Amino acid sequence: MTDSRMALRAEALESLLTEKGLVDADRIDETISFYNERVGPMNGAQVVARAWRDADFKARLLADGTAAIDEFGFSGGQVDKLVVVENTPGTHNVVVCTLCSCYPWAVLGLPPRWYKDPAYRSRVVREPRAVLKEFGTAIPGDTTVQVWDSSAEIRYMVLPAMPLSWAGQSHDILASKVSRDSMIGVQVLLD
Ligand code: FE
Repeated sequence: MTDSRMALRAEALESLLTEKGLVDADRIDETISFYNERVGPMNGAQVVARAWRDADFKARLLADGTAAIDEFGFSGGQVDKLVVVENTPGTHNVVVCTLCSCYPWAVLGLPPRWYKDPAYRSRVVREPRAVLKEFGTAIPGDTTVQVWDSSAEIRYMVLPAMPLSWAGQSHDILASKVSRDSMIGVQVLLD
């Protein structure tokens, strides 16, 4: 089943349950935002923090994202093939699904609403720097901006660059500082 068909079914189900008084729409929104903003992206943050502290893991992650996240027990959940792309001083990566809303659920949870917005999907390909600026993210002119178009088969996650001043911090502290948006590539992590 495609993502959009699944979303339609979920919406139909929600309307039905709300109509019958079986669930409260606010409660559903709360649950979605919980998975959206906390549980889901925290998986990705664990992966990023480990990669920052463990060069061997980082090499495995960049070579085969799916196998590397399996070391955490993160698998399935829409990630048949996870490709992790690393931000460097020379290249900034940003992820989109131009066709629909393919997203690496296993590491990032549910996609944010803007990710599914046709405006983001079409514009980030044409004018990535302008779109990033709207997210408050300015990319230096000499840094290449690389846009990765997800599909049902391949999902992308960005490995953000760690601010130098964070070096030596614990895994848990680092993981708590990794935002969802930095792993989609619309945000750069700052001190
Ligand atoms: Fe898609």
